[in-house]
Amino acid sequence: MESRFHTILLKLSGEAFCGTKGFGLDKDTIGQIAREVQGVVELGVRIAVVIGGGNFWRGREAGDMARTTADTIGMIATVINALALQEALEKNRVTTRIQSAIEMKQVAEPFILRRALRHLEKGRVVIFAGGTGNPYFTTDTTAALRALEIGAQAILKATLVDGVYDKDPHKYDDAEKFEEVTYLEVLQRGLKVMDSTAVSLCMDNKLPIYVFNIREYGSVKRLLTGEKMGTLVKEG
Ligand code: UDP
Repeated sequence: MESRFHTILLKLSGEAFCGTKGFGLDKDTIGQIAREVQGVVELGVRIAVVIGGGNFWRGREAGDMARTTADTIGMIATVINALALQEALEKNRVTTRIQSAIEMKQVAEPFILRRALRHLEKGRVVIFAGGTGNPYFTTDTTAALRALEIGAQAILKATLVDGVYDKDPHKYDDAEKFEEVTYLEVLQRGLKVMDSTAVSLCMDNKLPIYVFNIREYGSVKRLLTGEKMGTLVKEG
C-alpha cells in the first residue's frame, strides 16, 4: 500500500486524549492513538504530531487570570500530553522525539527546525509540544505553522466527529457533512475546522486540511492510502 503523501502533520486536540472522562489522560485511548501513528510510520510516511492541551486547560476559558499566564499554562499542558503519547509510542517500539517551543531541557528537546527535519528523515516521529511558544495562539495555528516549516503536504486534523458539517451534528438531525469545502467557505460561514488564524495560514500557503474521526479504527492509514473519509478543506 502506497501513501499519497510522504510527509504529514497530524494535529491531535487534547480532548482526543481523555476518552470519555472529559478531563486528563485515558491510557487506553492514548494507546489507540499511538497505534494509529504507528500505522503511518509503517507505511514509510514521515509524521510529525502537534498536540493540544484542552483536556487540561484552555487559556481563553481561564476567567480573569492574565491571558498571557493562562496561555502559558495551556502551552505547558501540551507537554504533558506529548509525554503521554511518547510513552505509548515507545511501548510499541516507535522512536520519537519531543520538541518543545518552551524550553524544558530535562524532558524535551527545544524546537530546532533542522534537527526536527533530521529526525523525520531517520523515521522518528517528532512530537511538537508547547504550541508556538506564544500566547494568543492555539495549537491549531501551531499545526499549520509546523506543517509549513517541515514541508508537510497535508495537515490531518483529528477530531471526534467524522468531518465538517454545515451545523452542529450533535444538535441538528439535518446537519450535512461536506466531502470538500474551501478555505474561504470555512472562514465566511464560521465552520468548525480550526481557528481562523490557522485556516488563513493554510489558505495562504495552499496546504490541504483533512478533517477526520480519530476514533475510527485505522483512520489515518486509510486516509493516507486513498480512502475517502472525513472532509477535505482546500482551494476553490
Ligand atoms: N496556547 C498558546 N499558544 C500556542 C498554543 C497554545 O497560548 O501557540 C495555549 C492556549 O491557552 C490554548 C492552550 O495552550 O488554549 C491549549 O491549546 P489548544 O486550546 O489549542 O488545545 P486543543 O484545543 O487542541 O486541545
